[in-house]
Amino acid sequence: MFGIGIDIGGTNTKLVVVNRAGKLLAQERFRTEASKGPQAFVKRLAAAVEGFRRDYGRQLVSIGIGAAGDVDPERGILRFSPNLGWRSVKIAGPLERSTGLPCSMENDANMAAWGAYEIEMERKKGNILALTLGTGIGSGLVLDGKLYHGGTGSAGEAGHVKIEPDGRPCHCGGRGCLEAYCGSYAIMARARELIKNETAFIKKFAAPGHEKFNTICLTNAAAAGHAGARRVWAETGHYLGRGLAALILVLNPDCVVLTGGVSRARKWFMPAMNKVLGAQQIKTPFARVKIRVADNADLGSHGAALFGLDKALK
Ligand SMILES: [Zn+2]
Repeated sequence: MFGIGIDIGGTNTKLVVVNRAGKLLAQERFRTEASKGPQAFVKRLAAAVEGFRRDYGRQLVSIGIGAAGDVDPERGILRFSPNLGWRSVKIAGPLERSTGLPCSMENDANMAAWGAYEIEMERKKGNILALTLGTGIGSGLVLDGKLYHGGTGSAGEAGHVKIEPDGRPCHCGGRGCLEAYCGSYAIMARARELIKNETAFIKKFAAPGHEKFNTICLTNAAAAGHAGARRVWAETGHYLGRGLAALILVLNPDCVVLTGGVSRARKWFMPAMNKVLGAQQIKTPFARVKIRVADNADLGSHGAALFGLDKALK
């Protein structure tokens, strides 16, 4: 039996088909294009699911979705997504009706946390905090083998924890949020302040065929010794350390798993992050916690697929 996992991000939407062990069988990805509206998006999703059904038929038993934003998992509603600009959007219900498959929806970082628990930690008991470092920042918690939702399903909105009073503006409308410093849009905004000749920078550091001013380009520049790029990553690490320190003090996790595109720059932001963690006064939780970057770059979609399968087969 196979499950479909869907990860709805601010920029891209990823779909995977996995078996119960989390092995990837098929995948697809398309641009989310949030500005075209949620109805067009659900239609696009249903078409992609149909494509998988032609290949796998009745072996497909469930759909699990992780969406970037505040999700009501009981009703399958995306209540608010700052990075998609959507409010009160029904996704799970319409997709369930059009595909006939049971469909669950959770916050994307919750699904990454579930993926970390099932794949990275191989279902070992313990407390896991997963941080998704992408366009925005999310977090999810699996406590003793159970996904933690909190009172309203909103647990883990770590991206909007305030780390700087009256700091930089955030996509949520607030100021000084962790995401306003460490989300990829914020990192690149800071890079723009420091790197004056963007065109020359892209020409020199972007991967061939991907001439874009993005975090990959910024990572390549840091590796080549570019002082501005290294400074941006060090600042990112510093602020990430502030946010993570607060989370570790409150939650005392056994393991923190970092995932998402920005986590690929670990070499450049982790020293500054670890410096902040090492400077905390209450030492025990910091001495104990294991911080790792996920090997699997698609924990969100894999986690969603495994979570959906788990629910459907219970
Ligand atoms: Zn915010």
